[in-house]
Amino acid sequence: MKAETLFWQQCAQAVTDDGSIDAQRLMDLVIATYRRHESDYGEIERSAETLLTENHAMRGEISAVTQAFDEQKRLFEVVLNNLPIGLSVFDADQRLRLSNTRFRQLFGLRRADVDAGATIADLIGRIRGAESICTTPEQRSRKHSSARAKNDSLRRREWQMDDGRIIQSMVTILSDGSSIAIHADITEDRKAAERIAYLAHHDPLTGLPNRIHFRERVDAALAERKPDEQIALVHLNLDRFKSINNTMGASTGDDILQQVADRIRASAGTENILARLGSDEFAILQTGRQQPWNVTALADQIRRELSEPFLHGEKQVELSVSMGIAVAPGDGEETDVLLKHAGVALSHAKADGRKRERFFTGEMEAQMQLRHTLEADLRAAVQKEEFELHYQPLYDLSQRRICGFEALIRWNHPIRGRISPMDFIPLAEEVGLIVDIGRWVLRRACSDAAQWPEGIKVAVNVSAIQFSGTDLPQDVGEALAAASLTPSRLELEITESVLMENLDEVLPILHALKERGIRISMDDFGTGYSSLSYLSSFPFDKIKIDKSFVSDIADNKEAHAIMRAIILLGDALGMRVTVEGVESAAQLALLECEECDEIQGYYISPPRPAREVPHLLSLPPKTAA
Ligand code: C2E
Ligand code: MG
Ligand code: MG
Repeated sequence: MKAETLFWQQCAQAVTDDGSIDAQRLMDLVIATYRRHESDYGEIERSAETLLTENHAMRGEISAVTQAFDEQKRLFEVVLNNLPIGLSVFDADQRLRLSNTRFRQLFGLRRADVDAGATIADLIGRIRGAESICTTPEQRSRKHSSARAKNDSLRRREWQMDDGRIIQSMVTILSDGSSIAIHADITEDRKAAERIAYLAHHDPLTGLPNRIHFRERVDAALAERKPDEQIALVHLNLDRFKSINNTMGASTGDDILQQVADRIRASAGTENILARLGSDEFAILQTGRQQPWNVTALADQIRRELSEPFLHGEKQVELSVSMGIAVAPGDGEETDVLLKHAGVALSHAKADGRKRERFFTGEMEAQMQLRHTLEADLRAAVQKEEFELHYQPLYDLSQRRICGFEALIRWNHPIRGRISPMDFIPLAEEVGLIVDIGRWVLRRACSDAAQWPEGIKVAVNVSAIQFSGTDLPQDVGEALAAASLTPSRLELEITESVLMENLDEVLPILHALKERGIRISMDDFGTGYSSLSYLSSFPFDKIKIDKSFVSDIADNKEAHAIMRAIILLGDALGMRVTVEGVESAAQLALLECEECDEIQGYYISPPRPAREVPHLLSLPPKTAA
């Protein structure tokens, strides 16, 4: 209130009833007003002082907060610009709000390019590269989506830069349309992943797709097959390739395999799918063609191509191939079935003498079933010991007496009767049961032989698997010890295939056995692949000439000449020679003339049960007369 107005009010209050002004009252009113103002002023002065102090304290606090904020900002910038990944933040209008140094480096942008406010389109226009893959938005995983707004989404974008680098951006789009993205150089990762994927799907030696990849391709081809389309699957296996590896070394083997792959590649052309399934196994898938004519033509061509000699340095190597063919849909509409049936057809091609192809048939299937049954029965037979040993005399020609017996296994099948070893030994070898069977044969043969007169030997056949699947010297040692049989009375017969399987592994075992006094014979000599080279690889005590050589020595001059040459060869190498399969007096007479050491065959006696051995030993000497 203004002072004048206040004074007039005070004057009005000091007017008496008669209209005059009571001077004393007016003075009191004025003095009271002064006094009140005086106390208000003091109050105001005190308040102002308090305000000043508080203001001061607040200023201190604000400066501390500002300092802390600056510190945080500095730290944020250090972190942001030293992140190993690029970071960018765009607002809802697609304008850049924030980015770091790595972002600029990754996309080759200048500082000016990333000024706040630059649009995505501006930046894309400035980078040297282009987007390579744009994946459809993936919804976040449940774990993440619960933590963020429901319609946030994550996009992966990839940029192929002109300098060859690949940049990947993971963009999180927020519900308001703004986005946060991290960017990384994935060039090396991608290369490594591609290499790993390649290695996982290809055979490093030949560069052909491997079994896994091939299966995927077959799966895809079968899935896409049109109703009237036929798809042929060829399973190839090189014949006796193992012996090339064993005789010429693994690196030669590898070189030949590469050449084989090249020839198959050239024959199959680009429209067929090729693969290397295993060591010497290949496969071809032929689609969209007239079958079975086209696949037959293809098989013919491959057989011709592979029959041409292979060169390794100066050396020439001859090869042949066996093939099994299954055609979808007739022989199966699933990859597994088709592969299995081509494999079955392949084993038939091998069994039929190799160097050929076989188409899968229903009969093969039936035989396979039979084989499965036989395998199951064979397993049971091992448990139930349904085997028996028969003994066939080994006849010493100069002494005109039996000098030993070969143990030959027989299987007494509860339903099928007696099964020949030719019908179950190959199966037992294939499924590994030969290890248990072989151990049983060794023990039984040694214990039977221990009952025979001193000087009568026992010969036991040993399969290749027994050299790698078990500790053969230990099994032999245990069998001899259990029967208390002198080692020199035991002969082990091995075939060339035993040596062919793995010369390096077999030779030391043979030497160890020989050192213990056990005799080693080479069985079925002349039926193998390169008899002479195996003969020189080990000092055999004996070679047994296969019965196929003896059958017409009496009537055929060449056969006679070959027999004579082998006997002389054995003599020259200091090995005893036994001729197997002697069935007639004429053959015996001839072999006697050739100074053959020993014979074996029906003419002396067929294999007989163990209990007949004493009787066989008591028979008078056999002569040619
Ligand atoms: P191998 O070791 O060459 O045995 C000789 C085979 O020729 C025997 O056939 C025998 O019965 C037969 N044989 C003997 N004399 C004559 C003859 O004058 N004319 C004809 N045509 N054949 C004759 P078997 O007993 O059927 O055995 C066949 C093959 O099975 C054996 O050939 C041997 O490789 C294998 N084998 C037999 N027992 C065993 C065994 O215990 N273990 C292994 N791993 N293989 C065995
Ligand atoms: Mg034998
Ligand atoms: Mg033999």
